[in-house]
Amino acid sequence: MKEAATLTPPLTPPSESKELKSDVPIDIDIPDNYVSWTIKNQKERPPIGWNNWWKELNYLSLTILTVTPAIAIWGALHVPLMWQTAVFSVFYYFFTGLVGITAGYHRLWAHRAYNASKPLQYFLAFAGSGAVEGSIKWWARGHRAHHRYTDTPLDPYNAHEGFWWSHVGWMLVKPRRKPGVADVSDLSKNEVVRWQHRWYRTLILFCGFILPTLVCYFGWGDALGGFVYAGAARLCFVHHSTFCVNSLAHWLGDTPFDDKHTPRDHMITAFCTIGEGYHNFHHQFPMDYRNAIKWYQYDPTKWFIWVCHKLGLASHLKKFPDNEVAKGQLTMQLKRLREKQENLTWAPDSNDLPVVSWESFQEQSLKRPLVVIAGFIHDVGSFMDEHPGGRHLIVKMIGKDATTAFFGGVYDHSNAAHNLLSMMRVGVLHGGIQHGLDDKRVPPAQRLRVARYTELASPYASSTACSDGEGMLG
Ligand SMILES: [Zn+2]
Ligand SMILES: [Zn+2]
Repeated sequence: MKEAATLTPPLTPPSESKELKSDVPIDIDIPDNYVSWTIKNQKERPPIGWNNWWKELNYLSLTILTVTPAIAIWGALHVPLMWQTAVFSVFYYFFTGLVGITAGYHRLWAHRAYNASKPLQYFLAFAGSGAVEGSIKWWARGHRAHHRYTDTPLDPYNAHEGFWWSHVGWMLVKPRRKPGVADVSDLSKNEVVRWQHRWYRTLILFCGFILPTLVCYFGWGDALGGFVYAGAARLCFVHHSTFCVNSLAHWLGDTPFDDKHTPRDHMITAFCTIGEGYHNFHHQFPMDYRNAIKWYQYDPTKWFIWVCHKLGLASHLKKFPDNEVAKGQLTMQLKRLREKQENLTWAPDSNDLPVVSWESFQEQSLKRPLVVIAGFIHDVGSFMDEHPGGRHLIVKMIGKDATTAFFGGVYDHSNAAHNLLSMMRVGVLHGGIQHGLDDKRVPPAQRLRVARYTELASPYASSTACSDGEGMLG
């Protein structure tokens, strides 16, 4: 750790066991160039091919993730499903998936989104064990790396490696490289987390399979159904529900808060993951106890935490300030508007048009239908026959200044007409634009624009400030 302080990246990140035992934050001396250095220099496991695949498999995960669905499929074909078992299986799915994983593992331990009382913590840890997804400490450590190094090789379920890799592939083989460093010293000190880590194997057997079997046996005499449906089938659903947070939530939906990385928001993901579907929000505001911020969005985990709070079992529910959340949303909305703005064709700017004297304008208007409006010379040839008021009203203005007539003298034209007129600009009348015409020379569609901060640096960067510029030069 000492070398790290001198900005020399650690040759090999500290070992997992040391990391799990230490009370000192593991990243206390992390060098500034940690990510780039580690990606470049850390050794990866060799690519998986025909000559080595059996050496690269993670047999424990592979067994759990294949035997469980095999039992469920066998059971579905051979074991009759009692309605009590069906109801209990759904209940137990939410108990282990929601109480255990989303409220416990994810929002409490991985993100510290709220504080939970000791009894609630034991309850959550117990429920989470039934989801058979590794201990809290292991899970939260990987998840913190996922948030810290999203979409990089240091993210254990890097979405850039593909949907199936982030869904399940990363667990079926040995990790190709060690996840990026993430501190879990808070969890190392936590009595409940330590308890669960110590008794993890016993707990997964009991909560994952024995308990649901016992409940169905003593409740309504359906031990085999309990094992197959509330145990194995339910576990399959819980597994893939959680896995969808790493795959589906990084693949399906939109990015209302930030589009720098892959996380996305989608209602379908929310239903598949017990409320973890607003993942774009979550990656922006990971310490918020909510995943969905609108009342109608599906986030039962948030409701559960809120109820625990009302019961006095949870406190300090963290919420990101609405003002900051709104800034993220506005940024993305402006970005989309900017794209739309850039895809439209706009009227030529006065700087891009030739400056024409009144005499020259008069002379040229004998050859083509030119009209002056608000200091701009317009060629109205293509529009004369389409003018709703009739061709004659335009013809009589050729070679003249029709500003007053256009802006209400004869007829107060619509914003659309004004926008369309600006597209017919062919020149600027010499002598500048008369005072009082500022709002008339900027078409309505260009009065409010989405501009980058660099474009706002000088008031003269915008064409709308042209008359001021001329005033200064004059
Ligand atoms: Zn994610
Ligand atoms: Zn998270």
